Amino acid sequence: MAVMTSSARPHLNRRLAEFGTTVFAEMSALAAATGAINLGQGFPDTDGPEEVREAAVRALRDGRGNQYPPGPGIPELRAAISEHQQRFYGLSFDPDTEVLVTAGATEAIAATMLALLEPGDEVIAFEPFYDSYAACIAMAGAKRVPLTLRAPSFRPDLDELRAKITPRTRLLLLNTPHNPTGMVLTAEEQSAIAALAVEHGLLVVTDEVYEHLAFDDAAHIPIATFPGMRERTVSISSAGKTFSFTGWKVGWATADGPLIAAVRTAKQYLTYVNAGPFQYAIAEALRLPDAYFDDFRADLQRKRDLLSDGLRAAGLEVYQPQGTYFITTDITPFGEKDAYAFCRALPERCGVVAIPNSVFYDDPDAGRSQVRFTFCKKDDVLHEATARLQRLAP
Ligand code: PMP
Ligand code: GLN
Repeated sequence: MAVMTSSARPHLNRRLAEFGTTVFAEMSALAAATGAINLGQGFPDTDGPEEVREAAVRALRDGRGNQYPPGPGIPELRAAISEHQQRFYGLSFDPDTEVLVTAGATEAIAATMLALLEPGDEVIAFEPFYDSYAACIAMAGAKRVPLTLRAPSFRPDLDELRAKITPRTRLLLLNTPHNPTGMVLTAEEQSAIAALAVEHGLLVVTDEVYEHLAFDDAAHIPIATFPGMRERTVSISSAGKTFSFTGWKVGWATADGPLIAAVRTAKQYLTYVNAGPFQYAIAEALRLPDAYFDDFRADLQRKRDLLSDGLRAAGLEVYQPQGTYFITTDITPFGEKDAYAFCRALPERCGVVAIPNSVFYDDPDAGRSQVRFTFCKKDDVLHEATARLQRLAP
């Protein structure tokens, strides 16, 4: 029970009352405590490119970024982000006024919600939600309105989206490729979403941290490239996933000047700035040749296939993802229904940690029996984890 103050008021304010420890922290702690293989929290077990690590060391040694870097990020990184948007998507952003470096995508999401929302505003977002969305919307005093993605395809129902738009809707919060389902929005879907945003005068915030992880025929297309969208869209990404440096927490937002100015205002009072030397290194990473990005995607697609074959062989129902580094499964074939209970027991039962998707849904039924596994791990780790799950199979 929470300790009460003399006024009998809980320490945690009402806006955050429904939020406890994040499921990622809970499940990674369980992995550490039990020694289980951690296919839960999405972080690679191999660090990113050596030359990028060396660039960070060089910056540290040369005294670049050891003192507060400029608030919006170092000019070299802002220029590299701007070039990246041009190179991959033909989008043009002024590095001085339309690019903001943040402490991971997490801070970009928080600053964007705190900057753009008034209490009472509604935000439509796909559920299952990436967990920080709900908390950031709540911290801004706004209300989340879920658009449920349903198995097996997890495609958004655009009629349902239209029906959820009200006069209080302020923004659409998109995530493609989508964590945890691996759904990648098509050009047609994005075009229809863009048309709705324009028709209703909505802002769009798009979380594209898995932008370089769209597999097979799926292609990542930023919604900012659609007509009428550049001036109403905040695009968010991060170096964590693309370069396998999740611990560096270098993220960014790109948008039209007035939107970035708003987000920057909030960001100033969250972290003011984030770690300097890593910014120099990521500026170099963003300029790596196409071969880096192609090989990275091909390697992760191969790992996806390796893990999905193993999970299928274990008897789980596998929803093949088109992107990200996660696979969503259904545990019903195991005779189980409650993903959270299953994930809490899994380390003891077979030495594997996974994430229950159920915690990312408001709808208590939609994701009840869904469990997410990550494949951003070494091949032998994936083999061993699936062998363990296969021994558990009914
Ligand atoms: N959005 C999504 C969809 C994510 O999966 C993650 C985790 N990488 C983040 C945001 C947070 O990214 P970062 O670690 O750069 O803060
Ligand atoms: N994005 C990672 C995931 O979905 C986790 C990041 C975090 O721990 N907040 O697994």
